Amino acid sequence: MVILGLESSCDETAAALVTADRRVLAHKLAGQEAAHAPYGGVVPEIAARAHVEVLGPLVQAALAEADMTLADVDAVAATAGPGLIGGVMVGLVTGKALAHAAAKPLLAINHLEGHALSPRLADPTLAFPYLLLLVSGGHCQLLLVEGVARYRRLATTIDDAAGEAFDKTAKLLGLGFPGGPAVEAAARDGNPQAVPLPRPLTGSAEPHFSFAGLKAAVARAVGTASPADLAASFQQAVVDCLIDRTRRALKTAPVATALVVAGGVAANGAVRAGLEALAAEHQLRFVAPPLWLCTDNAAMIAWAGVERFQAGYTDPLDTVARPRWPLDPVAEPVRGAGV
Ligand code: ATP
Ligand code: MG
Ligand code: FE
Repeated sequence: MVILGLESSCDETAAALVTADRRVLAHKLAGQEAAHAPYGGVVPEIAARAHVEVLGPLVQAALAEADMTLADVDAVAATAGPGLIGGVMVGLVTGKALAHAAAKPLLAINHLEGHALSPRLADPTLAFPYLLLLVSGGHCQLLLVEGVARYRRLATTIDDAAGEAFDKTAKLLGLGFPGGPAVEAAARDGNPQAVPLPRPLTGSAEPHFSFAGLKAAVARAVGTASPADLAASFQQAVVDCLIDRTRRALKTAPVATALVVAGGVAANGAVRAGLEALAAEHQLRFVAPPLWLCTDNAAMIAWAGVERFQAGYTDPLDTVARPRWPLDPVAEPVRGAGV
């Protein structure tokens, strides 16, 4: 079985071909950093236009690399949300058109399900249920992944996502855009104890995350220490928050077979190391996807397509694009952007 995956929910345009036996036959990705850099963040209209321009050629390049045509794929999987609605529409409409033209089933994929299942593409031995820390540009959640399409949200952020805090910190420190990798690089030369910064909600009985206060504290501290020391201190504060909240969740999710991390912030070495130590403390396996699978890509969308198709799901051609789309349908509404 071969699934074509399309991703366009933020500022990466991507197309990939993935098989049911976990072979990534092709994965093509076009970032838009240069287009957004002058604005210090992603501009939705610029992103949508860029997706329109490059998605078709990326699909052709992926098919060419795998020496295939659309007739060879079993289904087309496209991100249908959540994300910047213009970009999501570009990918979903393209997916619908390709599926219709080739008379193949459509799979409308939740981008968060792509992140959530991505560790299983890289690691065939990772079984359900697992405790997942999903840390990305727009989300920071702890989920019990019980199976395909079965997610129980245990915690979310009440304000900002961790990736957003990395991006804001990079901007404040003049490290450029995108921020996560720049902060991580700067932190290598800094002292994580140099600047005292808050760890919001750590030690709290409630399960959620919060990063707004940390972001504000970084803004106040700019100029009082070197960018390297500030970056290192900030990164350590984020790691401490993630570890504290995950440790708390481990107490309520005793059935988990592994501690798993996914999403763009999972590419961070300090985050990975902290979680690995936490898993070892609990005699749990730790699984993190390779770096290229952490940040947005289409292989994870194709893989979520494989898993859903095998579970019997397909979606109608009138499926709508959704700017917001919680993974857990019964999740309590929580204020803020992380829902
Ligand atoms: P979402 O998945 O929530 O819709 P998104 O798709 O924009 O958001 P991802 O591509 O999954 O997010 O992740 C991008 C985020 O990951 C950005 O905030 C970026 O700064 C952060 N990030 C990427 N690499 C690193 C790193 N090495 N260290 C810390 N953060 C990182
Ligand atoms: Mg991006
Ligand atoms: Fe993402």
